[in-house]
Amino acid sequence: MATQLVYVGNALLWKFTANDAVVQRYLNTAERNAVTAWQNANLPIRFEFHPGHTTGEPLYIRVDGNADNANVPKVDTKDASASDFAANLESLSNYQKLVGGNLKGKKVGALLSQGDATTLRVLLNTEFDNLQLIAHRYWNNEDPPADPTAPAATRPCTATTHCTGLVQNTKGKSCCPVCYQYS
Ligand SMILES: [Zn+2]
Repeated sequence: MATQLVYVGNALLWKFTANDAVVQRYLNTAERNAVTAWQNANLPIRFEFHPGHTTGEPLYIRVDGNADNANVPKVDTKDASASDFAANLESLSNYQKLVGGNLKGKKVGALLSQGDATTLRVLLNTEFDNLQLIAHRYWNNEDPPADPTAPAATRPCTATTHCTGLVQNTKGKSCCPVCYQYS
């Protein structure tokens, strides 16, 4: 059961978890099953999409409880890749808010503990392709490809001409409940 989409103002907030509504909306079942590492439930961040400068297919990262409406850490997913997060978070715009440092000439404190910053970096490094795919589909209004449909449980009996029976759609023959022949 998917969670509800969570908007705060114009911002759509979500977590990279299997039952998140955004994840379920933009990754199909096969894609979700192929995920290596979901976001740790204790990592206090949410991903965010909000209107504005959208050409780079941006993915914002908002620390729980933070209400900034400018300079939210983000990555333009169109031009980034997993390896950008192999060593540190510096490929994120405004990463200083996450780990502390000088941002636009002003010293800012870290919103994340060192451990959580590392957990976030590893998540970005491991799952960037999926995060990028979600961002791409979100910004381009694209649906994920449909999952293959399961074969029907039953099929019409062909053992007897004009039989109206349905038999089990298994590999071998099944007994027809109408004509009692194997079909
Ligand atoms: Zn039959």
